[in-house]
Amino acid sequence: MQITAAVVREAEKPFQLEELELDEPRADEILVKVHSTGVCHTDIGVRNQWLPVPLPLVLGHEGAGVVEAVGKDVTKVEPGDKVVLSYGSCGTCTMCNRGDSSYCEQFVLRNVAGARTDGTTPLHGKGGDVNGFFFSQSSFATYAIALESNTVKLDQGTDLSIVGPLGCGIQTGAGTVLNRLKPQAGSSLVVFGVGAVGLAALMAARVAGCTKIIAVDLVPERLALAEELGATHTINAKSSEDVVAEIQGITGRGADFSVDTTAVTSVVRQAVGCLALKGTCATLGFGTAGTEIQVDMLEFLMAGRTLTGVTEGDARPDEFIPQMIELNKQGRFPYDRLITAYEFEDINKACEDAESGKTVKPVLKLV
Ligand SMILES: [Zn+2]
Ligand SMILES: [Zn+2]
Repeated sequence: MQITAAVVREAEKPFQLEELELDEPRADEILVKVHSTGVCHTDIGVRNQWLPVPLPLVLGHEGAGVVEAVGKDVTKVEPGDKVVLSYGSCGTCTMCNRGDSSYCEQFVLRNVAGARTDGTTPLHGKGGDVNGFFFSQSSFATYAIALESNTVKLDQGTDLSIVGPLGCGIQTGAGTVLNRLKPQAGSSLVVFGVGAVGLAALMAARVAGCTKIIAVDLVPERLALAEELGATHTINAKSSEDVVAEIQGITGRGADFSVDTTAVTSVVRQAVGCLALKGTCATLGFGTAGTEIQVDMLEFLMAGRTLTGVTEGDARPDEFIPQMIELNKQGRFPYDRLITAYEFEDINKACEDAESGKTVKPVLKLV
């Protein structure tokens, strides 16, 4: 079928809307009419080829829409079902069997290779094939093909205009706090970098009952938003003389938990340095390959600290996405306040606004 997709043909160049041919879904595939799709920093990073997924390529990995057709082996959903698309996993490796699908042994192959696991792509342009299985979906398009593993069935009453970002960015921030760090009520937690992922972590800290929630950022508007969404304290790292000392002052004994979303090595050092005894720092930022983190070993040892990486918030999307939707309905997780909607043809403006910090979370409207 003919679809319209945003294609990247050259690194760091704008997306171009093109008419492409999309194959019929195979026996195990699901064809989704995309209603809306979030823009995540990973999309921008791959457009710029910081992570060299082969071009030409259709990105997009926070799709939400309605099932249009399914292959004969698909049992999870049927045409007409509302769905949100998340990351792909194999469902059969050791990690998937343990419930750790965000560390699937095929994570790279199924999410950032730009093709199906057999190397084929369902998208074809006038000049030849276009890579089109990014995060098992490539949802910067009017239609996308996904698999059961990354398709989450939603209630028919779900508002499709806001759920896309739950598939990656929001799940990453909230899941890190609720699935990995699991703070006890009354704990303190610091978030370094309050973009969409950091604000999701911050709202999750409030859900978990943290009583000292500290936001650190360089942008005053973002810190103001963090305060509205539950930060009890904010620190502007640009004007602060010593971020770590300020956090020590607020918490009295250091933070029980910290979350770094920036992938800036000097910030990770602060995120570890501000911890209380036996505190834990989770780092989620999408850094350039080869970047190394340095910590003072003796201090690290004597303080019994933990530094851990977290992918996709340790979330099992089928369980975690409906939980976030329910928390949102109850007014306890107002992540929809981060969203600014853009028409699909304004995708380049959406990316520009995300990069400048003008928009926290752009969502493209396709319907
Ligand atoms: Zn797996
Ligand atoms: Zn993402």
